[in-house]
Amino acid sequence: MIRRILLAVVCVCTVVSGGDALRAQALDPIRYTLRFPAPHTHYVEVEAAIPTAGRADVEVYMATWTPGSYLIREYERNVEAVTASAGTRALVVAKSTKNRWKIATGGASSVTLRYKVYSREMTVRNNWVESAFAMINGAPTFITLVERAARPHEVRIELPASWKKVETPLEPISGSANAFRAADFDTLVDSPIIIGNPLTREFTVDGKRHVVLFEGDTQLIDADKAAADVQKIVNAAQGVMGPLVYPHYHFLTMVVEQGGGLEHKNGYLGMTNRFATRTHAAYMGFLGTLAHEYFHNWNVKRLRPVELGPFDYENENYVKMLWVAEGFTDYYADVLPKRAGIATKEEFLDGVSGQIEQVQNAPGRLVTPVNMSSYDAWIKQYRPDENQANVTVNYYPKGAVIAFLLDAKIRKATNGARSLDTGMQWAMQRYSADKGYTPEQFYAVMGEVAGTNLQPWFQKVAESTDELDYSEALEYYGLRFRPANTSGRAVIGGATRNDSGRLIITSVRRGTPAIEAGLNVDDEILGIDDVRVRADGLNARLDQYKPGDKVSVLVARRDQLMKLDVTLGTEPPRSWRLEPLPNATPDQAARLTALMDGK
Ligand SMILES: [Zn+2]
Repeated sequence: MIRRILLAVVCVCTVVSGGDALRAQALDPIRYTLRFPAPHTHYVEVEAAIPTAGRADVEVYMATWTPGSYLIREYERNVEAVTASAGTRALVVAKSTKNRWKIATGGASSVTLRYKVYSREMTVRNNWVESAFAMINGAPTFITLVERAARPHEVRIELPASWKKVETPLEPISGSANAFRAADFDTLVDSPIIIGNPLTREFTVDGKRHVVLFEGDTQLIDADKAAADVQKIVNAAQGVMGPLVYPHYHFLTMVVEQGGGLEHKNGYLGMTNRFATRTHAAYMGFLGTLAHEYFHNWNVKRLRPVELGPFDYENENYVKMLWVAEGFTDYYADVLPKRAGIATKEEFLDGVSGQIEQVQNAPGRLVTPVNMSSYDAWIKQYRPDENQANVTVNYYPKGAVIAFLLDAKIRKATNGARSLDTGMQWAMQRYSADKGYTPEQFYAVMGEVAGTNLQPWFQKVAESTDELDYSEALEYYGLRFRPANTSGRAVIGGATRNDSGRLIITSVRRGTPAIEAGLNVDDEILGIDDVRVRADGLNARLDQYKPGDKVSVLVARRDQLMKLDVTLGTEPPRSWRLEPLPNATPDQAARLTALMDGK
């Protein structure tokens, strides 16, 4: 209700001032100062000067989640020592919900809110502060006013003596050291801040500054090689989407022995390990994540499902199109390194094959349509458990496979004149900025590009659990799935892990001997046919048997010993690896080359 009232006020302001920019200027900014008096204790101290507009009390809040990572994170759990004052006068500040506070202003035109944030979660969606550096994200750091207006937010950072540099996609405030301005709270949340002594390289494309940054243990990182290849990926992406649409871009990588990446409008925050640029395989993984997050600057940050904006930072924002926002982005994460001349043809096909394999090996693809796995991201994708693969399908690989099939469909329908690149450009022109697209609008624009109604096809691939049909794409490009070669090995069928010498079952998929025999997740396998199996010896032991053999498996379930009869199965063949047809026609070969080279 508060929101609706405030929205009405905003509308009036818009009419009076004639635009968002003017409206933003008309509101006094919230001014934050970040301090790190004892970074080794993992705290950032925040001081926020908050305008009150003369109200008797103001309500402020901290976001409970951050866009791009669809789970309520309860960031407020890391906040402590919240106080408020006006000049020298202490004010009453009281919690009004788990993540909100009410401040009695005493009539002051501005109040100062102070609090500390414990910052020791090494993920791209949270904060980390230590003696060497700080990684600050907006949602877990900045408490702001409860309002929908586009109010500017300014941040000034006081550096510990040993830290020399601040890098962030935020706009610097000229004439003020280490001070930055966001036009609104969304921009603040969308702009990670790295403070320390990072390794940086810069390049310019289309007159736009690109910063390639590494912070953490950067001794083994080859920043020159990385920057050169990142520039090639930027150039390849221009070939897909056209002119660059951001004012500048920050590739921010923490070298912290972790993985992951989170997209932002004018940059991305990723994590990698110290050997990321040393071996080809590790480097391709690093660049694949980078290409994915970079492509998001178009697909999801500017061209977005209609539900993903304006964000409600305190509640789930349900969306059915993450298979486009994430899956299509994942497809281009395979496409861009190939077109940049970094990945080989085989690596590209391996990338697409891996996506297909993930979809086809998940029993849950026959249970949940991909648009609903997107909708339920908040309770499933980001809360995986041992039964996940049985009941749902990951929208990343399924979306990527749909993109691959759609690309072929458009190319075939237009005799190679258009492609999915054209579709993404048209969608961008039509639905970017503040518009957003509905599923029907997305289906329609792709149909227009293809010159045919694609709605029934989209409904089948995205809104039903029907199996995907690969035949059209394979025929168009002259590809086939490599003939399945079965190892012939006997298997139980459950996944296991070595837990300090204990052999523990971690998942039991539908259609396997394990589930038929009643083996459970968390069972500890102790022996087969009265002979001990050690934690690293399961496969070697099963090699002593043939598929179809009946064995007795001794397990401990909550410390109770029991024997279960299992009929061993056959290791499933790897059936989903793409390769060019040995007798592909010149036309087919040319089409595959056009896809890989971006023609
Ligand atoms: Zn993504």
